[in-house]
Amino acid sequence: MAIGGTMSGDDSAGAADSAARLTLEQKASLTSGSDFWHTQPVEEADVPAIMMADGPTGLRKQAGEPGLSLGMGKSVPATCFPTATSLGSSWDPDLVERVAAAIAREARAEGVSVILAPGVNIKRSPLCGRNFEYLSEDPYLSGELGLAFVRGLQAEGVGASVKHFAANNAETDRMRVSADVDERTLHEIYLAAFERVVTAGDPWTVMASYNKVNGTYATENAWLLREVLRDTWGFDGVVVSDWGAVHDRVAALRGGTDLAMPPFGDDEVVVEAVRGGTLEEGVLDEAVRRVLALVDRAGEAAEANTHTLDPHALAREAAVAGSVLLKNEPVGGAPLLPLSESAEVVVVGELARTPRFQGSGSSRVNPTRVDVPLDALRETWGDDVPFAAGYTLDGSPEEDRALRAEAVEAARGGRTVVCLLGLPESYESEGYDRNHLDLPPAQVELVQELVAVNPRVVVVLANGGIVTPVAWSREVPALLETWLAGQAVGSAIAEVLSGRAEPTGRLAETIPFRLEDTPAFLDFPGHLGHSRYGEGVFVGYRYYDVKRIPPAYPFGHGLGYTTFSQGDLSVEVTGSGDEVRASVSVTVTNTGGRTGTDVVQVYVSDLDSPVARPERELKGFAKVTLEPGASERVELELGPRAFAYWHPVLRRWVVEPGTFTVSVGASAADLRRSVTVTVEGTEIRTPLTPQSTVAEWEADPVGGPLLASAFGARGAELKANPMAAEVPLDVLVGLAGFPRENIDALVEAAGGADTSDDDAQDDGAQDDGA
Ligand code: BGC
Repeated sequence: MAIGGTMSGDDSAGAADSAARLTLEQKASLTSGSDFWHTQPVEEADVPAIMMADGPTGLRKQAGEPGLSLGMGKSVPATCFPTATSLGSSWDPDLVERVAAAIAREARAEGVSVILAPGVNIKRSPLCGRNFEYLSEDPYLSGELGLAFVRGLQAEGVGASVKHFAANNAETDRMRVSADVDERTLHEIYLAAFERVVTAGDPWTVMASYNKVNGTYATENAWLLREVLRDTWGFDGVVVSDWGAVHDRVAALRGGTDLAMPPFGDDEVVVEAVRGGTLEEGVLDEAVRRVLALVDRAGEAAEANTHTLDPHALAREAAVAGSVLLKNEPVGGAPLLPLSESAEVVVVGELARTPRFQGSGSSRVNPTRVDVPLDALRETWGDDVPFAAGYTLDGSPEEDRALRAEAVEAARGGRTVVCLLGLPESYESEGYDRNHLDLPPAQVELVQELVAVNPRVVVVLANGGIVTPVAWSREVPALLETWLAGQAVGSAIAEVLSGRAEPTGRLAETIPFRLEDTPAFLDFPGHLGHSRYGEGVFVGYRYYDVKRIPPAYPFGHGLGYTTFSQGDLSVEVTGSGDEVRASVSVTVTNTGGRTGTDVVQVYVSDLDSPVARPERELKGFAKVTLEPGASERVELELGPRAFAYWHPVLRRWVVEPGTFTVSVGASAADLRRSVTVTVEGTEIRTPLTPQSTVAEWEADPVGGPLLASAFGARGAELKANPMAAEVPLDVLVGLAGFPRENIDALVEAAGGADTSDDDAQDDGAQDDGA
């Protein structure tokens, strides 16, 4: 074991030796924390405790006792980076990796070994109060950026805790609710980002979520933690519970949770379960081996530490990269943004003076400093830039009315209005969901009155979850979404508005016109302890596409200060089935007048499938910066997953043969070029059973001829009857006197399953999500 020793390539071997020397009591103690943030030390065996701390936006190392603050007490100062919503909108794995590395360096300096991040849960509904902590509605984008985050942390010798595994997509009833999701949807949407991070990033830990998945607590869910996470994906790190997610230490160990955090219950329960034979000692030993290996890894923290960047400057760079310019229309002939440094500006909005730059809950950071937007804007446009608050953040109607009148007066007379709007803190948080997607009414009234007196209004939004830009934004020429942009929020806004930097973010989630248009509208957050994921795989743009519901701003959308063309697309497919690959190349040209950044997005569509598939799915992207007039050939590689779907009957990923369209574009709704390719997939034969229909038998290359010869002359009669195709073979026994023995013989000859109670059929043939 490497504690006090050196780390070999295989720290688990050392951990196993060490485990062998521990008493049963010591082993039991290692599967729960010693306090809110530490693992249990075992002094007699030289096992130190290690510390874990949040989180996704920066280090939140708690300074005092957690007590009733539930771990939300004051924390040591740390750089507050942009929230995951903003990082997700950056579409920039390199940047995300650098941010995570910077968080890791601050963590190491504070003796923290594991950072409880990234959150790669999918934004199922924009109402989720915690969406600001998640990257995207899309599993591919979440997976790539989550992986970058893990790489950034771990390269600096700090472990990641990829969370919240799994299907933790709402805050309402989050500690009990059962996410009822069919298996295909889980694999394609809700597990895919975790899978990518686990299989390519080797995270030190995965955090099991509070909720139940199909009726079983995630922390006790052996299907999730053992079958999928360990057996299928090969995860050998520690499964740590979300804080308070263990209800029964023994059931959690059996289910696959190694470490209950914070300490829960008496270790004696575990000891007695082993002694009484209700918990195999081997299960405990495995958990202990992994916890010890984690402690080893922490002790061996890499010496890396290559970056010396100023973290505040990095926070600013990230805030700029995550800002999405939703709209930039001409006023007086030219797009309103960027504003020249000689422009006459008036700043409106309490959020300019009291910025909101991070979310509430466990990810909350005690920032080292904050760039206040009003100050930063005055630094660029002059100390004498007038300011009017325009509204209050706590919504007091009378005061709002008076402030609004003042702001409208200030906006008259030709200055460009920079108006900061957004969600007050009480509107969104970990721990509860939102119930609408609107800005506070006082802000809506304000902006409507501003545009009535001044056409030059730039709205800068600050919110973690999306807001619907309904009527109020129609007359607003420029709309910049900055999300919750971290402690450099103010200077980042000034950089972007002045054009010293370009907002290079693209939407990582769709912005709909109405809450009623959203995919989970009917099932969110759920009822009576269950949240039924009835929309299946049709989450985010996958839903808007198939339902033909035009969104206000599509997934992938975002403008810059120049324009790009994407042309000359070529797609070369090699290999087949599980080995298929495609090389995509496209020429990107900056067709505008200044240097800028384009995000090339690759979407794949399966044109013909036995399951209902989304019309297109993001499978690749690249961010390129080009000078005016410059071109670059951008090359992207697609692997088998770009074409595969999770087969609900076979219960595995399959690449089916056929034609696929590969498109490149600037958003899910702005595809610039498409090519149709033929892929040699794996021939998919679902097992034939007595319950398979005549049509299914006929379509099967082995079953078809067998059926034809079994029917002999009566085959023609059967074919001529248009109602026959949908009849299961065993029903023909009753309806047409077909001998039952013949069916059994046919099933055997076809190499299929012989009974309707076949497990795979039962579990897998769930709703395919359509
Ligand atoms: C949150 C986790 C967090 C943990 C520790 C939980 O309530 O769900 O995301 O890491 O607390 O603060």
